[in-house]
Amino acid sequence: MKNKSIFLMFMVIFFNFGWLAGCSGNSEIPVEKQGFYMGTVVTVKAYGQKAQRAADEGMKRIKDLQDKMTSHAPDGEIHQLNASAGNGAWVPLSSDSIYVLKTALKYAQLSQGSFDVTIGPLVQSWGSFTQNPQIPSPTELDRINKLINYRDMEINEKEKTARLKKTGQMVDLGGIAKGYAGDEVIKIFKAYGIESAFVNLGGNVVVLGEKPDGSPWNVGIQNPGAQDGGCIGVLEIKDKAVVTSGDYERYFEEGGVRYHHILDPQTGYPSKSGLISVTIVAETSIDADALSTAAFVLGLAEGLELVQSLEGVEAIFITGDRQVHITPGLKDRFTLTDPGGIFQYHEKT
Ligand code: ADP
Ligand code: MG
Repeated sequence: MKNKSIFLMFMVIFFNFGWLAGCSGNSEIPVEKQGFYMGTVVTVKAYGQKAQRAADEGMKRIKDLQDKMTSHAPDGEIHQLNASAGNGAWVPLSSDSIYVLKTALKYAQLSQGSFDVTIGPLVQSWGSFTQNPQIPSPTELDRINKLINYRDMEINEKEKTARLKKTGQMVDLGGIAKGYAGDEVIKIFKAYGIESAFVNLGGNVVVLGEKPDGSPWNVGIQNPGAQDGGCIGVLEIKDKAVVTSGDYERYFEEGGVRYHHILDPQTGYPSKSGLISVTIVAETSIDADALSTAAFVLGLAEGLELVQSLEGVEAIFITGDRQVHITPGLKDRFTLTDPGGIFQYHEKT
């Protein structure tokens, strides 16, 4: 099992500190905090008078969301939702979880179930986050596949409750919770009057405003094929979320085959859509997070169609045969660096 999120994080930070070293002349030093939450390294960086308090509160908020949304902690509310699956009881949930479940449902519908947070039993069976990942048997997959269905997730928004229809069903928010957490930290920063900040949850990046010198933030896009975690390009952004789903982030190998952590609910296997990475640029990172996973499973043609049907959403798709496709809105904001010169670049119209 490999996790390159940590490496990705350092790449992103590297790109963002470059300007500080040389040319800014701006003496403002950011407040930085780092932690390990939601299964990944989290970094927040904020400029401004109240940056320290804002960063402390931001980190606390991430931990709070982790505790609510993990499916592992017995006292977490998503764990309780899962434990009650099939018994008919409505489980009380926080506004946070209700909002995340509702958004998850929206993207399940938009992607015809390619993004489906009822994927829990499948994630568990593959052991994606354990020391002992495994290929489930066909019988096991047959049994589990019947449990994966977002339509069985009922949400009562008014009462702030939810339930899962069938025994054994499980919600897994691994494809969306980090996105929500990123947005919530930005909300806190804004409340403290912060105008320039950067939040990174294991490669799930959200930026507030511009850098203090007035230039856009630079986010490195990882080369999915590079063993060293090098970048194939740089995005210039302000007030945006940038989230990547890639087959190189978490995986195990058996018999020379790579089994990664983004699962196709239709097959029960790691998605084989021909994509090796999808980066979504959107206004909010909850949308970018869900969409990056959805588009990865949908593949280039359908993923692109979905992205282009949504207002304010742009994307970079990288295929297994090294084609880089970007949507028109990124034309002036993305620079392909590709030091190895092995990728072919396409701008969509
Ligand atoms: P990461 O969490 O590594 O940034 P993603 O955002 O793409 O990557 O989310 C992948 C995680 O989402 C998996 O680890 C699993 O918990 C969950 N997941 C896997 N496949 C799906 C799917 N088809 N729909 C929704 N969630 C998924
Ligand atoms: Mg995601």
